Amino acid sequence: MGGECIVRKEEVAMEKKEIAKSCPYVRKCGACQIGEKSYEEELADKKKWVAECIGRHCGKIHDVAGMYYPYHYRNKVHAVFGRRSDQGREEVIAGTYAAGTHTIIPVKDCLIEDAQAAAIIQTVTGLIQSFGLWVYNEDTGRGLMRHVLVRKGTSTRQIMVVLVTASPEFPHKNHFVERLMERHPEITTIVQNINGKETTMVLGERNKTLYGKGYVEDVLLGLHFRISPGSFYQVNSEQTQVLYKKVIQAAGLTGTETVIDAYCGIGTIGMCMHAKAGRVVGIELNGQAVKDAKANAMRNHLEHMHFAAADATEYMTRMSQKGERADVVVMDPPRSGSTEAFVRAAASLHPRCVIYVSCNPETLGRDLGWFAKEGYAADEAWPVDMFGFTQNLEVVVKMQPVRRRKALTDG
Ligand code: SAH
Repeated sequence: MGGECIVRKEEVAMEKKEIAKSCPYVRKCGACQIGEKSYEEELADKKKWVAECIGRHCGKIHDVAGMYYPYHYRNKVHAVFGRRSDQGREEVIAGTYAAGTHTIIPVKDCLIEDAQAAAIIQTVTGLIQSFGLWVYNEDTGRGLMRHVLVRKGTSTRQIMVVLVTASPEFPHKNHFVERLMERHPEITTIVQNINGKETTMVLGERNKTLYGKGYVEDVLLGLHFRISPGSFYQVNSEQTQVLYKKVIQAAGLTGTETVIDAYCGIGTIGMCMHAKAGRVVGIELNGQAVKDAKANAMRNHLEHMHFAAADATEYMTRMSQKGERADVVVMDPPRSGSTEAFVRAAASLHPRCVIYVSCNPETLGRDLGWFAKEGYAADEAWPVDMFGFTQNLEVVVKMQPVRRRKALTDG
């Protein structure tokens, strides 16, 4: 896939300028930082940023692997509901918060979001209006409809709609679902998620399946994954495969290794490494994600794949206290990065390499410093752009114990 992911320079550069001009939300919504730069310039800026953040800890930093077509790539689309007065008429709107505020910018078709998902959100918004359902008001804490989340399995075309409500009572629920399905027969499942808390988190803890299976499936590198409403899943399926291939390549597996997949989510990275490893253990804190992960391992008939619903640091510390070791530790923490305690626990398993997958070069730089203190040095970094038009990207870093690296060089 890496080879297919070549940016057609003139075409994308020109297109981006043209398309960027056609976005009516430029500099209004907080979703992306769309601008006048070409995609090449964006990728070059991203590489510079990675170098600034991790350069002092890392050997070679490769060019950023860019997207072939950096539009409509987001397989997960979220909108918050609000109301606005238009010429004396109250109207339900759905959109995103303006950067740094809680003012909703109604977004109808966004350049980076999946177009089908965006159309479904428009229909849901219209149905809320025609059914006379109350939109949740953050200031008063009253009202019902809070958010809508649409997730699409890029390969399977399955679509999940999650309607987030402030309370379990959903008037005209069955009729609402019927009307939505009539308009969008492509939807494969509809879930009601209940979030009654005053919080900036979109999803609450309870899910009620209103239609279909309650999750969507996607295929990555030939493996099937089920994704529940609360489970983490990369938003750009195509580039995720580029990223995971880099991880597999960097790990240099021979078929016998014990691999730890820390912060594993629904188990995607570990499962993609399974065919080349002896045994893979995924560690994840979110119970719903672990449930998905176990179902995914069964579905793909992966016999040497195990999962632990646990804090990764505590689990690895217990492993090392029992005298267990790991050959390869893969870690993919949230944006806030890892912790010094995690780094110590990972090093205590004496892996021959650590593969760090990061979505935040700043916390990555800090964490590489902690690894250096434990005797692990970063050789190479491969940035992968998963989020065109935004300032985000993913970086894969390979670390090895300094002594091992020296021995390999001397040998
Ligand atoms: N590797 C996965 C998910 C990465 S997102 C993928 O590629 O899809 C980061 C994950 O770390 C989330 O699923 C989050 O629930 C989990 N997490 C956060 N803190 C954790 C901890 N202390 N121990 C284990 N998992 C944790």
